[in-house]
Amino acid sequence: MKVLVPVKRVIDYNVKVRVKADQSGVELANVKMAMNPFDEIAVEQALRLKEAGKAEEIIAVSIGPTQNQETIRTALAMGADRGIHIEAPQDIEPLAVAKLLKAVVVQENPGLVLVGKQAIDDDCNQTGQMLAALLGWSQGTFVSGLEITGEKAIVIREVDGGLEHIEITMPAIVTVDLRLNEPRYASLPNIMKAKKKPLDSQNATDLGVDIAPRLTILKVEEPETRAAGVKVANVKELVSKLKDEAKVI
Ligand code: AMP
Repeated sequence: MKVLVPVKRVIDYNVKVRVKADQSGVELANVKMAMNPFDEIAVEQALRLKEAGKAEEIIAVSIGPTQNQETIRTALAMGADRGIHIEAPQDIEPLAVAKLLKAVVVQENPGLVLVGKQAIDDDCNQTGQMLAALLGWSQGTFVSGLEITGEKAIVIREVDGGLEHIEITMPAIVTVDLRLNEPRYASLPNIMKAKKKPLDSQNATDLGVDIAPRLTILKVEEPETRAAGVKVANVKELVSKLKDEAKVI
């Protein structure tokens, strides 16, 4: 079985994101970028499936500007076998990403697509679900456990108030959640080896997919800054403030 892992290049999660002066988006110039953390978990899961003899080949795919090839190289350094880069604008929307991924699925015919549950830049949580709908495949979302047995897979889903165990039919789209695994670091020899692994590049328009945006961003603004807190002298004063000023008790 081939496993396809879409990996998105996003602002590194340690970076404090700044809104552009003209409020058209967030500042990306000279900002450290990295693989979306949920996609690292997806790559790790694919590697574990390969190590368990349940997958033969892992293909990392990234859609975006040329720099996205660095993100693919990170996946290759972790252990993915080859990469596919699809040249597209940075701000491509989930529906267009899902359509392009569908085109890659048709080309590559994987048995499983392991997608991050959400990208930490747009927080959309849409791509995996849209891809499953476009392909007519089963989907397991917010997954913190995955057991594949031939034509079926048992997935454990993180839902409000507990864990849901469901059986899905392969081929499937699985969107991975935080507790599925802890991704490995790429070793230096593997980073060197990754430079020689195959990375194919194509253009979004060559795949015959309409990637025109459907949404217009009106403006992006910083969240409101929190007002400074006050120190209270004792419990009596705290209770009186909660009661008379905040009116929450
Ligand atoms: P989203 O629906 O934007 O929150 O993204 C969910 C997941 O879809 C991500 O974790 C990635 O696995 C995948 N994805 C989204 N955008 C891209 C992209 N431009 N290139 C590759 N994978 C992507």
